[in-house]
Amino acid sequence: MAGEFRHHILKPAACWGTIALVCLNCLYFFSSSFFRTRFYHFFITNHILSASLLLPAIVLHKRSCTPWVLAALIIYILDLLLRAMKTRITTARIRALPQLGLTRVEIPEINAGWRAGQHVRLRVVSRGMGLLGWSEIHPFTIASCAQTPEGMVLMCKKAGDWTEKLYNLANRLSSSSIEDGQGQGTVRVMVEGPYGGTGHRMFSSFSAAVFVVGGSGITFALSSIQEMINADNAGNSRVKVIELIWVVRDPSALLPLLPILISFVRSSAFAPLRISVFYTRASIGKFPFPEEFFKKASVGRMIGPDAHALASEKDRDGLCGLVIGVCGPVQLADGVFEAVGKVDGTRRDLVGGIEVHEETFGY
Ligand SMILES: Cc1cc2nc3c(=O)[nH]c(=O)nc-3n(C[C@H](O)[C@H](O)[C@H](O)COP(=O)(O)OP(=O)(O)OC[C@H]3O[C@@H](n4cnc5c(N)ncnc54)[C@H](O)[C@@H]3O)c2cc1C
Repeated sequence: MAGEFRHHILKPAACWGTIALVCLNCLYFFSSSFFRTRFYHFFITNHILSASLLLPAIVLHKRSCTPWVLAALIIYILDLLLRAMKTRITTARIRALPQLGLTRVEIPEINAGWRAGQHVRLRVVSRGMGLLGWSEIHPFTIASCAQTPEGMVLMCKKAGDWTEKLYNLANRLSSSSIEDGQGQGTVRVMVEGPYGGTGHRMFSSFSAAVFVVGGSGITFALSSIQEMINADNAGNSRVKVIELIWVVRDPSALLPLLPILISFVRSSAFAPLRISVFYTRASIGKFPFPEEFFKKASVGRMIGPDAHALASEKDRDGLCGLVIGVCGPVQLADGVFEAVGKVDGTRRDLVGGIEVHEETFGY
């Protein structure tokens, strides 16, 4: 008001203070869900640049802030170190699955150290991913159970630029490796994690488990169901029934996963597994399965005397609740929470309660 603003703002301390304030505002506004979901690369670049400038700007604004800035820096460096310790550099086999519009990434060298439902952050170090492709790191839920011969399996749906490059690279590599007799391409990858997961919620300690998954959210269900079946076959599970509800765009999406789903149905000897697939688009051309197919696909589940004995033993435990695992778009999870909210309280108590675990591909 005294007309001295220009004079004051040009002082270094005030100048750096303003820069720090601008950085903080950028961090705040561009971290909103709007920017994160629509312009992820802009969000992440802005986040790193603003945070890197904010810390020295605070020190230059007020020297007395140095200990606080140092504390933040130490936490950040520790985080980077821990991430580096949780990172493995290895080779992955990649294969494009056109029916699902995704790339299957198999990492045979990593075959232990995670629990169903956890995710890793993947970096592909290959010239085929473009000039800056190596600099990007993307999260994917692990689609396999630990200690299987195929190792860690990820399914990466084409969702944008990076995942599309990965898909195209898998296509290129597999067509060139078909010529030399291998049939799938290999790339160097950096795998960081695992992170997240179901925490203390043990799916095998409930009486029933339902998985509601959309599109590539099937990854979460695959590893969780496989882990539950293994626990059940070893006599370490209370689950009496497992239900998988998968929502996909096209019925042909079922084709590449059919062998694994049938093997699940066959190996779930004690807790029957029921699978329902809903498709959201009219199929183009011929329906990919003959009418009789699904009746045949359910064959082969073996129920012997052991299974009946175990089932009656589980019955004696009483009901220990229903767990619902939902994975896919945020709207799918919202729908499940809404449906669970509408369940009558008495029914909920009768089954021992209902818990929902949400694993959405967003934040
Ligand atoms: C915990 C978690 C587990 C996931 N698991 C799977 C899975 O098993 N299979 C699968 O197909 N997809 C999964 N996703 C989603 C997958 O990470 C994104 O589709 C992928 O990163 C998109 O990258 P893009 O550059 O191709 O697309 P873009 O067009 O850049 O982004 C598409 C969407 O993905 C988000 N996204 C982009 N890059 C990143 C990143 N580095 N980190 C976090 N989010 C990002 C954006 O916000 C945007 O909404 C998971 C996401 C999260 C957060």
